[in-house]
Amino acid sequence: MTEETFVCERCGRDGPRRQVKEVMYEEGKDRVKKNVCPECLDEIMNRSERVKGIAGQEKRAAVHIVGSGDGLRESFGTRD
Ligand SMILES: [Zn+2]
Repeated sequence: MTEETFVCERCGRDGPRRQVKEVMYEEGKDRVKKNVCPECLDEIMNRSERVKGIAGQEKRAAVHIVGSGDGLRESFGTRD
């Protein structure tokens, strides 16, 4: 097994690294980037008012949550 894995920063599950999705959002003045799994990305996009597709730093798939990141902060805030 040489396949790289990642741990979703939202639900804590791990999965193959090629499935990692990058989510960016603003928290105050900072831009926060999280690596999440495809399931969490779907949920995040459903909960967000506006989502922009952007070029990820490492991977092709990335989204930028436009506007309030409140819902995100809650869902990420339950884990450390
Ligand atoms: Zn997840």
